[in-house]
Amino acid sequence: MSNARLHRTADLLAAGAAAGLLAACGARTITAIAPGAGGWLLAPAAALGVAAADLASGLLHWACDSFGSERTPVLGRTLIRPFREHHRDPEAILRQGTLKLSRNSCLAALPVLSVTLAAPGPSPGASAALFIHATLLVFVAASLATNLFHRWAHAARVPPAVGWLQSVGLILSREAHHPHHAGGRRAYCVTTGWMNGWLDRARVLPRAAAWLRATWRRSPHAR
Ligand SMILES: [Zn+2]
Ligand SMILES: [Zn+2]
Repeated sequence: MSNARLHRTADLLAAGAAAGLLAACGARTITAIAPGAGGWLLAPAAALGVAAADLASGLLHWACDSFGSERTPVLGRTLIRPFREHHRDPEAILRQGTLKLSRNSCLAALPVLSVTLAAPGPSPGASAALFIHATLLVFVAASLATNLFHRWAHAARVPPAVGWLQSVGLILSREAHHPHHAGGRRAYCVTTGWMNGWLDRARVLPRAAAWLRATWRRSPHAR
């Protein structure tokens, strides 16, 4: 089997396993909603899960754009390079297959979903456990979809349903993502872009990068 075919098969298996585990965890969480109670928790859990995924996408993106290099051991080729390549050729994301685009997200989701499924699920009527499980599953689902949302934010044309989701701000829009590629270290969050406003207004990430670099220079490891 050729290398490309091997990678594609592995990507397909990882995506299938992630989707299967997510569906199994989701079904278990849904069945824990007691008749007439608990269902209302799904809305705030979904909002929190998506917001957390957006923030996580921004922190990962910022870290990979700001630190290390493509030659950094272990993480350089697998994690940092795709972010650096995206800045060299932002439109390349449009030519990349969905399975390859989702590879890292699926590989990161698999252990989280496996542990979640192995752990006891929420009991019927247990509101706090239901809220935590629903938030976690929405976080994972939104994280799995993040690279796809990012790709759509670069596309000149998208399916009408995607365009509507972008227009109401439920997924990352072209306008929300544009400032990131227009220079000025901002708009790192690429799931929905919800968290970019406060992160950019307070310059949280550039300040954090400056602080981390200064701390590193003062540390004995820098010598
Ligand atoms: Zn970037
Ligand atoms: Zn981009």
